[in-house]
Amino acid sequence: MRKSIIVIGGGVAGLACAARLLEIEPACEVTVIEAEEQLGGLASLWRCNNFAADLGPHRLYTELPEIAELLPQLISQEQMLEVPRRSQLLLDGHFYAYPVSASEILRVMGPLKLALYGTSAMLGQMRAIAVKPRSYADAMQQAFGKALYRKIIEPYTRKVWKTAPEELSEEVARVRVSAGNTQRLVKRLLRRAENTARPTALDRFKYIRGGVEGLVQALAAKVLERGGALETGLAATRFEVSGNRISSVCAEATSEEASDGFFEASAVVSTIPITKLTCSLGAVADSLREHVERLNYVGMILVGVALGKDRMSPNTWFYFPEEHIVFNRAYEPKNFDPEMGPRGQTLVVFEVTARLDSALWQKPDHELAQLVVHDALDCGLFSREEILETYTRRLPYAYPIYTRDFRTHLDAVCRGLAKVENLVTTGRQGLFNHNNMDHSMLMGMRAAECVAEKFPAPAPKWYEGLGQFAHFRIVD
Ligand SMILES: Cc1cc2nc3c(=O)[nH]c(=O)nc-3n(C[C@H](O)[C@H](O)[C@H](O)COP(=O)(O)OP(=O)(O)OC[C@H]3O[C@@H](n4cnc5c(N)ncnc54)[C@H](O)[C@@H]3O)c2cc1C
Repeated sequence: MRKSIIVIGGGVAGLACAARLLEIEPACEVTVIEAEEQLGGLASLWRCNNFAADLGPHRLYTELPEIAELLPQLISQEQMLEVPRRSQLLLDGHFYAYPVSASEILRVMGPLKLALYGTSAMLGQMRAIAVKPRSYADAMQQAFGKALYRKIIEPYTRKVWKTAPEELSEEVARVRVSAGNTQRLVKRLLRRAENTARPTALDRFKYIRGGVEGLVQALAAKVLERGGALETGLAATRFEVSGNRISSVCAEATSEEASDGFFEASAVVSTIPITKLTCSLGAVADSLREHVERLNYVGMILVGVALGKDRMSPNTWFYFPEEHIVFNRAYEPKNFDPEMGPRGQTLVVFEVTARLDSALWQKPDHELAQLVVHDALDCGLFSREEILETYTRRLPYAYPIYTRDFRTHLDAVCRGLAKVENLVTTGRQGLFNHNNMDHSMLMGMRAAECVAEKFPAPAPKWYEGLGQFAHFRIVD
């Protein structure tokens, strides 16, 4: 059978998959179909007039040996910047340096509060010895103690995930804590000096000059160099399934430059949201609907505010845990790479998360910008006179929500998809995996290897091996 492989989604997972497929099997035909006009997915560059920003600043960091070996082939030393991390967290009107130090808590809140937080954290950690956490709320109370949990973590979690911490799986704590366990994170946060052999991205990190798009361009160049095709502005909307195989992919143009497409496929690798993929599979979708409905993503609205001054602050990140402030986090792209905006002006990007069915998400762009500007002025970040322009961008699939029962539903969907023998789903969206770019690249490459090795029916082996992606930890 001629190998004509369609990769759906041109984020880093799809591109790494296509490049790897063409590397192992130069004779196969590989086409990447991307719904947006621009490649990159979450790792795209956002252009706002003279400014450029990542969709959330993307640090380059990996603990995966295979990706560590690959990155220098994609990004040269000259393209790489080393950026000192400088973050602040706003609480009760005071900007604390983040990670928050015990000495600052003592200075600002006084010895009683410090003693309260310290004792409560100790009690929480003692409890952790005896009691296994059943939710994210349990895990965080054990790590930080009830007092700090209630003050910072509980409101911040509700705000970011739009979900009660009791409803979230304790896996969220494991995934988000790069040091591997929460006790080590607490030590690092409060003492700022953990002696660990593992490098972390807490103090300094690598950033690609001009933004994360540099990595996407390098991956896309590899696909083209190796004879693959990249089709942008085309959204895969329907799959023709005969028996237990996909025979073709139907795609609709999303831009005026593209026209609808029909792609015959001997195998398909999908990196689009697993919920979207399943719903496009006709009869397969019907049997999985009840599980698909339980897998939800939280969306993100980015509001960029251009200011008529060179910098708002020297910070890379600002955190806003309090729920009365609409945004969770803010960043200034020029503090990652000064070339990302013109001299004398700067862009500040505010991250607002929202469920797609919420009133917040439904608001028109100008109202969202007004909300953000109102709260930013209230926080004293800049003055109204300094604002030049506002920009808005929406990411409907920013984070998969790990509810306490998400694994049950994800496993059921994967078991159902495994019946389509020439389809594999991978990447952050495709496997509902809260990950980083290096993980998504590896997931794409592993999918390519499985398709090449087990063609024409890679699915059974693929779904058996998903445990290999369970150890990923993201750097926060
Ligand atoms: C705010 C934020 C900050 C982050 N910071 C970092 C960081 O500092 N470092 C780091 O390493 N990672 C970071 N990440 C994670 C990183 O962005 C992701 O792990 C990675 O980009 C995911 O790549 P992917 O290809 O798996 O998914 P995606 O990038 O989501 O790619 C999926 C692609 O599929 C396309 N698509 C969807 N539907 C269709 C369809 N029907 N037809 C065709 N195409 C379709 C989408 O347009 C998209 O391009 C961050 C993520 C967020 C949200």
